[in-house]
Amino acid sequence: MSRARKPDWLKMRPPSGQEFTDIRETLRDRNLHTVCEEANCPNLGECWSGGAGTGNGDGGTATFMLMGDRCSRACNFCDVQTGGMEPLDPDEPANVADAVAEIGLDYVVLTSVDRDDLPDQGASHFAETIREIKDRHPGILVEVLIPDFQGEERLVRKIVDADPDVIAHNVETVERLQFPVRDRRAGYDQSLSVLEQVDRESDIYTKTSVMLGHGEYDHEVYQTLADCRERGVDIVTLGQYLRPSRDHLEVQRYDPPDKYETWRRVAEEELGFLYCASGPMVRSSYKAGELFVDAVLR
Ligand code: SF4
Ligand code: SF4
Repeated sequence: MSRARKPDWLKMRPPSGQEFTDIRETLRDRNLHTVCEEANCPNLGECWSGGAGTGNGDGGTATFMLMGDRCSRACNFCDVQTGGMEPLDPDEPANVADAVAEIGLDYVVLTSVDRDDLPDQGASHFAETIREIKDRHPGILVEVLIPDFQGEERLVRKIVDADPDVIAHNVETVERLQFPVRDRRAGYDQSLSVLEQVDRESDIYTKTSVMLGHGEYDHEVYQTLADCRERGVDIVTLGQYLRPSRDHLEVQRYDPPDKYETWRRVAEEELGFLYCASGPMVRSSYKAGELFVDAVLR
């Protein structure tokens, strides 16, 4: 397949406005990281200014990145740096909880780098952050996008026991393309088993995300969605892979917006997902609060 050219519909809207400035200051003051900024996410302006702090479920969404900005893995689509792991910051759970209140978010997404270097791969720290937020701000909805914890059920259970509202884990791509897209320690079956465990052991909503543009065929995308539904996954997002740098995998294809709309209909109407956020610019946490409240709670 030849390299694809980036089309017009992927133009970014730069973030601006008082809300954006205030949130950024709060994060700086507390030495916190968000995926929104670290990954230079194209949706930043839209997500952060989603009416945060209204308290009515229409609030903005921000995704906090826990446990540092360096990952023990090296996925070929991801811009996070590999290696040079730092010790965990014991104040991070409380700092995140404080920042959530200060910013006035109604819905918070927590994710992390993978910490294969730690004895419990960071599961306890992740769980503590959920509890800090829930204990201090009971009205806030918490979504977590977790690592696979190498498929260790006792570690996944730590997250389940902390009782967030949504547990997400991304399969990222179709089964055939797991490698070279993901780090060798990840895998399709392992990711599906994490999602299946959450569904089996709790009433917590489950969510996953699939990137398009790595050269997958339609029947493989359909099979991936069907496999996720079979494991009880409730929510799915589909978005275009964008190459972070020349060191990362090339984009094989850009699908137009109407193709994403077709996938949304297939996911919701045929396969029965509670909702599917699908579009070229959609990311796992894209307007997560607004969409969750609209589709699930209203
Ligand atoms: Fe942040 Fe996710 Fe929105 Fe991007 S899509 S700005 S990472 S909340
Ligand atoms: Fe990036 Fe996650 Fe892969 Fe680490 S495990 S390199 S953070 S996608």
